[in-house]
Amino acid sequence: MHSRPRRPSRAQGAGAKSIAGQNVIAIDGPAGAGKSTAARRLAAALGFTYVDSGAMYRAVGLAARRLGIDPDDAAAVADLVAQVTFVADPKGTRVLLDGTDVTADLRATDAGVWASRIATHALVRERLVERQRALAADGAIVMDGRDIGTVVFPDARYKFFLTAHAEERARRRQAQDAGSGIASDVTTARREIDARDRRDRERAIAPLRPAADAIVIDNSALTPEMVVARMLETVRARARP
Ligand code: C5P
Repeated sequence: MHSRPRRPSRAQGAGAKSIAGQNVIAIDGPAGAGKSTAARRLAAALGFTYVDSGAMYRAVGLAARRLGIDPDDAAAVADLVAQVTFVADPKGTRVLLDGTDVTADLRATDAGVWASRIATHALVRERLVERQRALAADGAIVMDGRDIGTVVFPDARYKFFLTAHAEERARRRQAQDAGSGIASDVTTARREIDARDRRDRERAIAPLRPAADAIVIDNSALTPEMVVARMLETVRARARP
């Protein structure tokens, strides 16, 4: 059994309270790495709840854009968090903005760009991290994002960092967009995810990086089934007495 000593988990600069994360599987990685597909399938296989933390940042970005709030105004953007309701759903995380379901609007390319802009603010992150931790209080979860294993749940029981070559990630993102009825091409998708990844990696607060104890999986040449099988193998091996 896995028995890492518990240490206080604080959001960087956020002063959030400690949550052990023993019922959490964290999956982090860059855009288009296949995190949500793996997280959704892993959660279904284990009977856990899937939580898409990116949907939360996208929702706040969307709210800022719709209400004409300056994305660089940290305090005004952070106040929007209170207007958003997150509902765990086997397919992903559903988001209500002032009571209206806006989940379908979160996938637009510019929603990702706005998300990564508002995600640079410490105050916004502090409020969303609080919500993310609260979701884990209700039961076992698989949560995907950028800082789940490093900041949100540094004591997560299992941590994975999924990655893939940039060209492959762009190809997957374009296919995902096409499946959602969003017109795009691989070159545009590549440009968008490169810029977003750069901003996510270079930001001062909770930058995208693998946790020291994360298992890194490069899935450029793996199918989603193979990725989930590898994750399940790890979970089952560690759960054995
Ligand atoms: O995962 P997804 O592509 O939906 O995330 C959109 C953006 O939200 C990311 O590019 C990142 O800037 C931000 N994000 C974050 N921390 C997370 C999840 C998402 O900063 N845990």
